[in-house]
Amino acid sequence: MRRAAAMFTMTAPAMTRAILPMKVIPIREAATPLALAAGSTHRSGERAPLDQRGRSLRDLRISVTDRCNFRCIYCMPREVFGNDYPFLPREELLSFEEITRVARRAAALGVRKIRITGGEPLLRKDLERLIAMLAELDGVELTLTTNGVLLPKLARRLKEAGLHRVTVSLDALDDETFRRMNDADFPVSRVLEGIAAARDAGLGPIKVNMVVKRGTNDHGIEAMASHFRHSGHILRFIEFMDVGSSNGWKMDEVLPSRDVVARIDRLFPLEPVEPNYQGEVAARWRYRDGAGEIGVISSVTQAFCSSCTRLRLSTEGKLYTCLFAQQGHDLRALLRGGADDDHIDAAIAAVWQQRDDRYSEIRTAATPTARKIEMSYIGG
Ligand code: SAM
Ligand code: SF4
Ligand code: SF4
Repeated sequence: MRRAAAMFTMTAPAMTRAILPMKVIPIREAATPLALAAGSTHRSGERAPLDQRGRSLRDLRISVTDRCNFRCIYCMPREVFGNDYPFLPREELLSFEEITRVARRAAALGVRKIRITGGEPLLRKDLERLIAMLAELDGVELTLTTNGVLLPKLARRLKEAGLHRVTVSLDALDDETFRRMNDADFPVSRVLEGIAAARDAGLGPIKVNMVVKRGTNDHGIEAMASHFRHSGHILRFIEFMDVGSSNGWKMDEVLPSRDVVARIDRLFPLEPVEPNYQGEVAARWRYRDGAGEIGVISSVTQAFCSSCTRLRLSTEGKLYTCLFAQQGHDLRALLRGGADDDHIDAAIAAVWQQRDDRYSEIRTAATPTARKIEMSYIGG
């Protein structure tokens, strides 16, 4: 075990942090000390480590690229993620083999659901090869979150490779608002075509994520609800979050989910639905007339940290125990240093056992100014 701890030492990041102009806050972490000080109490053969708050490890989110073809204003604002932005060079990325190995070890420790994300995951070349490798893990649900525009080209291949479901992000139904939000001139039709392709390929039930930013796209809530009623897709409204350090988050721009529900309920009466499973992130509501269901993700106004079972693997192989983390744990050094499976298990378990995160429960007006890792890098 001691050997595992020693090997799991943070190396200085290969990439020097960008010196970004003016108000821009650092994007990726600098060298960080590894929080593995106490080592793991996990023993080879043991399963299901618990964190400091008694939460088990159930979900793994894997970021396969830090790049994106969109520049959503709440995620990768163009002033920061411009042409000269230093995205990770190829050799820094985990290979598919490395990702699969981590996923296999995480599954051995209790992970039952894997979500592929980014950045825009469909930009990662030959992604279906990774999907096919991950699909071999028994008892693990395999999902992917995408902005959807590459789905017409890739949905069928991904399904054939073994992907189970997709979540597609869509913030508005009118082109003017949508273009303003994606800031890359993509029209709504491209995403709707992607959703249709995913449905035709059998990647449903499809979830559609709308980030609600008050004063920017909240006028479209009712139109989105109306559009997706009777579609079989589950529309989910996400409160605008203070992820990363560059999206200029202000509490005033958060529209509480309860207001979203009240507004839809006025037009199309709703009733609450029991969660599918303990710890489900979205609160479920269904239309009383049987037109389907919606979900609301109240990450700001109703924190759900106490049931958060998610671990994140960044594009370059660092583990993060919270979306709002300020530092990660360099697993890649272990992977490339020849560690055996027991050591990888012990390292992942140690990170999990030391986890004490509950950012959303302790968020104050001041916390958004803390330097946090960008969502496009850590994986949304
Ligand atoms: N590019 C893919 C996409 O947009 O679906 C996957 C990565 S994206 C970071 C994952 C999810 O995070 C998307 O549904 C996106 O809308 C959401 N997201 C990004 N920034 C957010 C923020 N500041 N607040 C709330 N949700 C956010
Ligand atoms: Fe790209 Fe997704 Fe972030 Fe939008 S939310 S910029 S699509 S990674
Ligand atoms: Fe989980 Fe961190 Fe989000 Fe809380 S703030 S729900 S611990 S990712």
